[in-house]
Amino acid sequence: MDAADNDLTVSQWARIREAWGGCAYCGATDAALQRDCVLALSRGGRYTIENIVPACRSCNASKSNDEVTRWLRRKRLDERAFLLRHREVLALLMSEPSIMAAPVGAGDSPVMDGDRALTSAQVGAMPPS
Ligand SMILES: [Zn+2]
Repeated sequence: MDAADNDLTVSQWARIREAWGGCAYCGATDAALQRDCVLALSRGGRYTIENIVPACRSCNASKSNDEVTRWLRRKRLDERAFLLRHREVLALLMSEPSIMAAPVGAGDSPVMDGDRALTSAQVGAMPPS
């Protein structure tokens, strides 16, 4: 897997959680939030700022590898609200140079996912959304 496709840094993840203010799907704020890939890894999703949202353990486990909008509908969660909010949060994060620059070696460390280290590689190489 190309490291440039998996460039979520610790500080980006912290800002994502902050921007959402809770579980991206059900809004839970009291639960420990996990990184969830909106587009599941098994469906070609990557650990990038565009594809990661905070999810409570229950949503994360329930969603698993499902297609996100189908899962939201099945859970009777607000699919439209999620998609809108996701767009807002992304726009907000993208407008923050300090987040998007993610300079390597600036005290940032790669997010660990199991035994796979995710590098804080160039975000400048991200495709236009
Ligand atoms: Zn949740």
